[in-house]
Amino acid sequence: MKKINVKNTYKLKIAGSPEEKIVDITQSEEYGVAPSRVKYIKPKVVVKIGDAVKIGSRLFFDKKNEVNEFLSPVSGTIKEIIYGDKRIIKAIVITSDNKDEKEKICDPLSINDIKEKSVADIRSIIQKGGLWSSFLEYPFNRAPDKDEIPPSIYVGLDNDEPFLPESHMFIKGHESEFLTGLSAIKRICKKTYLGMSVNCKVNDPSVRKEATHQLVGDYPANDPGVLLYYNKTSSDENKSWGIKAQDVIRIGMLLESGVYPNKRLITVSGNILKDACYAWVQDGIPVEAVLKGIDDFSKIRIIAGGALTGQKIDKEDYVSYRDFALQVLPEGREQEFLHFFKPGFHRPTVSRTYMSALLKDKEWEMNTSLNGGHRACISCGSCVAVCPVETYPQVTMKNLNVNDIETAMEQGVLDCVECGLCTYVCPSKIELDEIVTNAKNIIAKEVGK
Ligand code: SF4
Repeated sequence: MKKINVKNTYKLKIAGSPEEKIVDITQSEEYGVAPSRVKYIKPKVVVKIGDAVKIGSRLFFDKKNEVNEFLSPVSGTIKEIIYGDKRIIKAIVITSDNKDEKEKICDPLSINDIKEKSVADIRSIIQKGGLWSSFLEYPFNRAPDKDEIPPSIYVGLDNDEPFLPESHMFIKGHESEFLTGLSAIKRICKKTYLGMSVNCKVNDPSVRKEATHQLVGDYPANDPGVLLYYNKTSSDENKSWGIKAQDVIRIGMLLESGVYPNKRLITVSGNILKDACYAWVQDGIPVEAVLKGIDDFSKIRIIAGGALTGQKIDKEDYVSYRDFALQVLPEGREQEFLHFFKPGFHRPTVSRTYMSALLKDKEWEMNTSLNGGHRACISCGSCVAVCPVETYPQVTMKNLNVNDIETAMEQGVLDCVECGLCTYVCPSKIELDEIVTNAKNIIAKEVGK
């Protein structure tokens, strides 16, 4: 196994991590899916109000990439299709019939069966099974086109962003599905690499022996895009695909059962929750049903996903196709009087401006406050010091401000893994990751992605 020391990573010390206990939260009368929350797609809905659906029935697909399909997590009847501004489809609401009727996607397949299947068949099952968007094609992080052949596929076993589920929690009891999913991915591309953290707590030897790389570093060392950056030997590999281990398990579940896997293990975390834990939830369950203990939603922010890369959602939303975490943070609306004249033992600091820099192992009770307003870039270099793919976010931003995309590309803008660390550490509160991602999206449009 090759060892990689990832430079420029950062350990986020946030209080409120989930306890290692698992609860089941699967019961609701209504479920929903939100096409508007799936990035970079143009959804085309194929159901109408009153239609009966089963688990695995097609609900919508991406008009730009028709093999990217999204399936129903529940059997029942389409109750409502909710549109937002500019007719974006906010949610497709389904009333459950509690019958759990399932569409058959394929015959159940073992690892040995997968060896006998053609690559075209395996791709087609994953596409029809609604899991094609588990793959992200670099550098634009879109689901791959139908016939795209990846130069290599990078699998990330571990999550190091707070508070995505830890690998030993989601692998336990699902080793077989992980190995089945991985063998299917290896059929799609022989050059499949599995990155495992040096701190990985997975004990199962059959899983550990699949790892090709051991990654040393804090967040986001275990992002598959970071492994690609360190492992690639030519620019041809820039179009590789990435996938996370939890999605590999879902592919394994689909192949082993022949039906759409409609349950997922998520973390429910945040220092204001009494019971931060892991939960098996049914896809599409209302967020409010998962966050039952909260009385006043006006004082909190709900984030679906990791602390830096997640999306802000509302209690009326549903657990969506790409959600593996729900986090709750208090809204930080209070301003602190003359805080600059205080030693700052109570505030986290990256730039060591505050005395809290001495409290190395303290976990901080974060809220949503930026702790300051937007200012001009002071060229401090904090963003450069944390960029895991060694780009220069502050310089890139200045080039992008004058529409010099070519120079930004020369500086590696397309290597950005959208980890959000540059924004987190910026003392001028500049949304650097958003600027870089917008530039990538402009380039993506130019090349027809
Ligand atoms: S540019 Fe910013 S968001 Fe992109 S990889 Fe570097 S630190 Fe992360």
